[in-house]
Amino acid sequence: MLEIDLVPCLRDNYAYLVRDLATGLTAAVDPSESAPVLKAAAAKGWTISHVMNTHHHPDHVGGNLAIKEATGCVIVAPRPDEGRIPGIDIAIEDGGRFSLGDSLALAIFIPGHTRGHMAYWFEESKAVFCGDTLFALGCGRLFEGTPEQMWRSLERLRRLPGDTRVYCGHEYTQANARFALTVDGANAALALRAKAIDGLRAQGRPTVPSTMAEEAATNPFMRADDPVLAAAMGLPAAGPVAVFAEIRRRKDAF
Ligand code: FE
Ligand code: ZN
Repeated sequence: MLEIDLVPCLRDNYAYLVRDLATGLTAAVDPSESAPVLKAAAAKGWTISHVMNTHHHPDHVGGNLAIKEATGCVIVAPRPDEGRIPGIDIAIEDGGRFSLGDSLALAIFIPGHTRGHMAYWFEESKAVFCGDTLFALGCGRLFEGTPEQMWRSLERLRRLPGDTRVYCGHEYTQANARFALTVDGANAALALRAKAIDGLRAQGRPTVPSTMAEEAATNPFMRADDPVLAAAMGLPAAGPVAVFAEIRRRKDAF
């Protein structure tokens, strides 16, 4: 089993320290920068043995080399991003398995935000690290992928058990909620969640992790195959990819 510690980085990024309790091996997931991550590990008395990157963007890999220099850690990252993620030791592919001590992670290929993006799912600990593909109440921008790819990626994530905790790459939830209410305003669960998020942010507390069940019920990007969202987008006869694309287009302009 894992203990997971959230480490705020840069302006609104989250890195995570993920410790396998049985062996003490500890991974830093998406270290935007080294200093806060090393400091958080030291405060816990943990030594970082691994870095795990979801994708190549600088705000997810910026701390790789300095953490490796400080700890001699092993860096695990998506194979499609070989050549653009610094310090890769283990290049992992879709369906690849990786052991952090006694905790097994499965790599799930979720392109759309970038063409190499990977999620890491720790089934036993009910946790998924999904970078900038799925956010609490949102999804990443399509920098290197199509709406179809992103929709398939979100669908793959949605098939994980509902009690899976969703650890995403940014604290964007409050702004995402404001947008979500404009496209799915009759969703009572969304309205409740938006209130709870406002409460957390008013106290300066993180809104992450959420659960996959919450995202499936309230995240408009995950609901693109719901007739309610299709109707709201003015596309009652369209399939989920077209509905997803329209929601994404509106969010980009929001
Ligand atoms: Fe990011
Ligand atoms: Zn990104």
